[in-house]
Amino acid sequence: MKKNNELCNFDGYVPHEFIKDHFPYEKPRNLQLETTSKIYDAIEDGYKYIFLEAASGFGKSAIAITLSDIYSSGKTYILTTTHQLASQYLEEFEEYDLKKVEPRSNFPCLTKRNGSYCAIGSCKWSKCKYHPESRRYNGRYTCNFISQLEDGLNSSTVITTYSYFLSENFYSNGEFDEKYSNDFPKRNLVICDEGHNIDDKIAERVKLTVSFNDLKDLGINIKKELRELEYSDDYDFLLQKIRTKYRKELERKKPGSPSYVKTFMKLNKINKFLEHIGINKNNIAYSEDETAINFYPVITSNFAEESLFNAGNVFLFMSSSFFDYSSFANDLGIEKDEIYILRVPNIFDLSKNPVKIYKKYNMDYKNLSEYAEPSLEIIKEILDKHPNEKGIIHTVSTECMEYIKKNLNNSRLICHTTANRKEILDQFKNSNEPKVLVSPSMNEGVDLPGDLCRFQIIYKLPYYALSERVKLRSKTYKSGEDWYDYKMLTKLIQTYGRGIRFEGDYCKTYILDNRILGIIEKDLQGDELIPKYFIESMEVEKDK
Ligand code: SF4
Repeated sequence: MKKNNELCNFDGYVPHEFIKDHFPYEKPRNLQLETTSKIYDAIEDGYKYIFLEAASGFGKSAIAITLSDIYSSGKTYILTTTHQLASQYLEEFEEYDLKKVEPRSNFPCLTKRNGSYCAIGSCKWSKCKYHPESRRYNGRYTCNFISQLEDGLNSSTVITTYSYFLSENFYSNGEFDEKYSNDFPKRNLVICDEGHNIDDKIAERVKLTVSFNDLKDLGINIKKELRELEYSDDYDFLLQKIRTKYRKELERKKPGSPSYVKTFMKLNKINKFLEHIGINKNNIAYSEDETAINFYPVITSNFAEESLFNAGNVFLFMSSSFFDYSSFANDLGIEKDEIYILRVPNIFDLSKNPVKIYKKYNMDYKNLSEYAEPSLEIIKEILDKHPNEKGIIHTVSTECMEYIKKNLNNSRLICHTTANRKEILDQFKNSNEPKVLVSPSMNEGVDLPGDLCRFQIIYKLPYYALSERVKLRSKTYKSGEDWYDYKMLTKLIQTYGRGIRFEGDYCKTYILDNRILGIIEKDLQGDELIPKYFIESMEVEKDK
């Protein structure tokens, strides 16, 4: 195997002729062909992990489709962060053998009269009469979930979300009995779109949830247990206790009965979680919501094999920025030397895609009440500079979204809730007026080419909410503050790319939060992990 850093250079490289025969566009750019061809070489050279870093709009999804077509006999999974992104792939590449697969929770289960879904995957073990492989199947009604799953698995490329894929791989029960096995058999290639998210995605999907109702049934008073753990934070101890209760409960049940299987599944989840957490008891982060308690791994490396790597032979992670490759590899439990890293040079005209930074306001939550009102003036000014163009205001929080909408009182502004996000986004896209979408959640997975977005305002830097896991995770990096900043920058660079979707596209970005200046300065004097093109695109507001 060649050394990964030798393979990053495009100078004098001639792509394989056959690559363009698989490309979805008639006239791909040379750099796209070279990039795809280099990834092909890396796969043929035996690399198992490939990281592709290229700016948003470079055409990474076209590269994913080309590779899945080249390796169609070995079959591919493409993983996306949202269903919306998966659907975008289907629309854009409809002539390819590409099928989307959705989880059980998106289909009403025909065995349930109230239309709810099959929460424990009972189709796997009882093969219900709506399952074509069941002996009781009468051919009249087929479960929609099973139909689309089988359709997908018969196609050369399955596209699905990280959420379904990771939890299905990790928590299926195939080792107990084949009939419980995973919905996703191993394929040759797994492509992780927006791959920089993988650490968070794994933590979210392997998290162990125990409902308050289950705790009550087991006779556990969670408030009392937590009081006792107040100083030790020994969540491993609490989990061991829950596990013992489940074991006793299982002993009381009739083997093979539906209630036995349900308890078995719950116990098996705890066993798997504890087995992967290992001996480091500090590796558990705890949270509570309205109905349940949750346990997350702080470091996900022990979980990557079973939730992701068992599902394929080769993994392509695509992103517009990975920042610290060593730390990223560490999160996945792999060595940096095992990775082929391909950083694609910028192809966009930065003068048409500038990032203007305003110096006055630090939009940290502590200062927001002071700066919220004066910052409205700047937003007004920016809207006036783009009277006939569509744009977005990224707010990070719902409160800021509502504040801007209420206090700016401008008929161009439109907002959404969690429930109507897709509907409002469609309205925004289809409108002929120069609407401005104000949103806390359009940083990623939204494609707004051409006139759909000519300017965007970043009201506040998109820092992660400080959950228990985020706090503990940041402490495992060489500097917690740097980890927190780089995570934010990953989102910021994704945000920058929302309106630059193809060569020649343009979109002006305004950052109102001056904290960005200190972060860039620190990076330039230290690790220099921020992509050069992003720094070069910046203009700082002149002193007045
Ligand atoms: S196969 Fe049967 S049990 Fe499974 S989701 Fe479909 S209808 Fe429900």
